Amino acid sequence: MATGSARMRLAIVGGGASAVTLVDALARSTPREKIKVSIFEPRADPGPGRPYQQDADGALINRPAEAMSIRHTEPLDFRNWLREAGNRGEFPSVDPEARFQPRWLFGVYLRRRLASAAARLAAGGSTVETSESTVEDVLPVDGGLRILTSTGVTQTNDHVVMCLGTPRPADLYGLSGRPGFVADPYPLAGPLPADEPVTVLGSNLSAVDIAVALLRRGHTAPVRLMSRNGALPSVRCRPAVILPDEARELAEAVRRTPSAALWTTVRRLLRARLAAHGASADEMVRDLAVGEPAAGRLTRQLGRQDAEDCWRAVLLPLLDPVGELFWQRLPPRTRQSFLGRHHTRLATVLNPMPPATAALLLEALRTGALEVHAGVTAVTARPTGGFTVTADGRDHHAGVLLNAVRATPYDPEEPAGRLLARLTASGLVRPHPCGGVYVDFATNRVLGPAPGLYALGHPTAGDLYYANAGSLLGISARAERIVARILSSPVTGAAAVAHSSTLTIGGRLDG
Ligand SMILES: Cc1cc2nc3c(=O)[nH]c(=O)nc-3n(C[C@H](O)[C@H](O)[C@H](O)COP(=O)(O)OP(=O)(O)OC[C@H]3O[C@@H](n4cnc5c(N)ncnc54)[C@H](O)[C@@H]3O)c2cc1C
Repeated sequence: MATGSARMRLAIVGGGASAVTLVDALARSTPREKIKVSIFEPRADPGPGRPYQQDADGALINRPAEAMSIRHTEPLDFRNWLREAGNRGEFPSVDPEARFQPRWLFGVYLRRRLASAAARLAAGGSTVETSESTVEDVLPVDGGLRILTSTGVTQTNDHVVMCLGTPRPADLYGLSGRPGFVADPYPLAGPLPADEPVTVLGSNLSAVDIAVALLRRGHTAPVRLMSRNGALPSVRCRPAVILPDEARELAEAVRRTPSAALWTTVRRLLRARLAAHGASADEMVRDLAVGEPAAGRLTRQLGRQDAEDCWRAVLLPLLDPVGELFWQRLPPRTRQSFLGRHHTRLATVLNPMPPATAALLLEALRTGALEVHAGVTAVTARPTGGFTVTADGRDHHAGVLLNAVRATPYDPEEPAGRLLARLTASGLVRPHPCGGVYVDFATNRVLGPAPGLYALGHPTAGDLYYANAGSLLGISARAERIVARILSSPVTGAAAVAHSSTLTIGGRLDG
């Protein structure tokens, strides 16, 4: 293991897209000192994480390719990488100009960007290694932060960054382990007989991903989406241009306004922006209301996908530049009350689906291949097999049940939840009432006694709001802040600390 001369040791917990943005940001910063980077990830294949594993072609990313980059300063990086690969004759089945690309392809991009960042760091004398293991605990020690893994490895680091991803779907009805219940449906290419009716619990973006993957691969039996509110995600519309001055002015107003007046002031500014673009508040009310039949809503929103005066086109582009600042400046009690009262409805707008997906769903609703039901109140396993889903007072039988219920807190049984529970018990992190753990807004450092502990992506949602914490461009901007702080912090001497066990190298990074 070529670590002898490394002066700084950095451990990354989790090997998904956030970890890739971090390693890439580190490589681009061309650090002068030698760094030993260790990525701990239980999956054999670091890079794709949960959403971008090997999957069916029909399972598409739900953001356009021009917004799917690991570098916020180069939003076209994925698009350009794909064009170059196409010119070399790679991926002949893929249209590099399509706006919405297959999930597996983004996984290839992540793997390759990780490999090239590792190569760039190696050229400067640093190393990047991966360990196929789960991090079970992090302990403060004199020389830094000691990591304990599921494979019994201990390793001391100067800095640890937790890139734990989103919680797995919530098992609200205690069905895990029952035959026919798929607790986590990603990747979406699982073996389901084409003629078997499928019920998906949830109607959010993940539920739609599942329905689309099934429909595209020619599932012949009906697919049913069932949830409490039956609300599908909105249809993505073409975003209106925001001038840099507009974003700057709004950010400045958010920064200047006292917290107590923030909500009112921002509402006034957003109303002014809507009026300037001729956008109607009525459309906003309809989009956020409950109860509109799915087919009618899809038809209406598909008709508005290119409308420059659609409120979603006017306001959503502000989320990346201003959203996290606004969220962080709101008093915590306002944030909590917002999450409780508005988040579920707003999430349908913040996580929209591609228009092609909406068109496919609409067609399937019309032919009866798809049904959307609201009013789910209970799901029980039948003693004779299968499940009963009660919705609006009626019982529906389901043989196969795919779980897409969005979870807010991490489950203490899953690796991320287990680790955070241990760190909470030892006082290293403090759970945030709005999700994840408390972090310092400027640096992503976890607030607590360990100066070398950071979080990136979803575990920062309480302070950065989940829409920003989950946007890759937002994650990349935050990764750069972490890198800047790490490189300017004195090393704790972890590199000199004796290790009770050597690191098991489970993954190889190849291009
Ligand atoms: C199902 C799904 C679909 C999505 N689709 C899109 C999309 O189409 N477009 C988009 O822009 N965004 C999408 N997102 C948002 C997504 O959060 C980001 O795009 C990005 O994948 C986040 O990367 P991550 O590394 O933070 O999380 P992940 O990719 O989930 O990676 C986290 C990794 O951490 C590992 N881990 C957890 N705990 C531990 C531990 N204790 N020790 C070691 N390893 C651990 C997990 O095994 C996992 O591989 C999607 C998210 C989900 C959950």
